[in-house]
Amino acid sequence: MKDKPQILIVEDEKQIARFLQMELEHEGYVCTIEYNGAAALDRIGQTYFDLILLDIMLPDIDGLTICKQTRTLSDVPIMMLSAKDDVETKVACLDLGANDYLTKPFNSKELFARIRVLLRERMNQHQNPESSLQLQNMTLYLDRHEVLIDDKKIILTKKEFELLTYLIRNKNNVISRDRIVEDVWGYNYRGSTNVVDVYIRYIRNKIGKHDGQDYIKTIRGFGYVAND
Ligand code: CA
Repeated sequence: MKDKPQILIVEDEKQIARFLQMELEHEGYVCTIEYNGAAALDRIGQTYFDLILLDIMLPDIDGLTICKQTRTLSDVPIMMLSAKDDVETKVACLDLGANDYLTKPFNSKELFARIRVLLRERMNQHQNPESSLQLQNMTLYLDRHEVLIDDKKIILTKKEFELLTYLIRNKNNVISRDRIVEDVWGYNYRGSTNVVDVYIRYIRNKIGKHDGQDYIKTIRGFGYVAND
């Protein structure tokens, strides 16, 4: 987490969005606003946030769908904010992975207190040294399958993430392609070791380079190494 927690506000009513932004910035948070669901999902896929405040009734994609889709990408704390106060909606949101639900109109003090709770829980998770791995300016969060380069979120598939995790766990050790296939794809994998080259290429396309250097170096005719 950066010094100032980053909060995404997804809210189509501009007055409410601006009010939230002003109040939260006054409390020391950094806020980004998205006024519709599509833009919000785009933003969530690309940028790191410590918390999302999510309205349910939006002009395009509703908040429940956004919540569900966000959970396929990350476990960022999500607080639903909605005028809907029926139990069914609340239960549906929580079942889809929302962490909290506050009914509009809400009291700012209560909102801040609940935000603090969610951020505290999040911070405690991240203090577990086993839960993240570092390679240069890249951080892998193992529990939530997230990769950040500086503050930019990189979206990897499950297998890409497993391979990258494996290489970083063994960083600065050159590992043969055979060994990688065995450890990442398993003993029973019957395909060619070319699969490693293919996945390394996918990963490189997504993570790019650092200071003009590949994060994962090719050792020609042998294998790969993730250099710190
Ligand atoms: Ca709304």
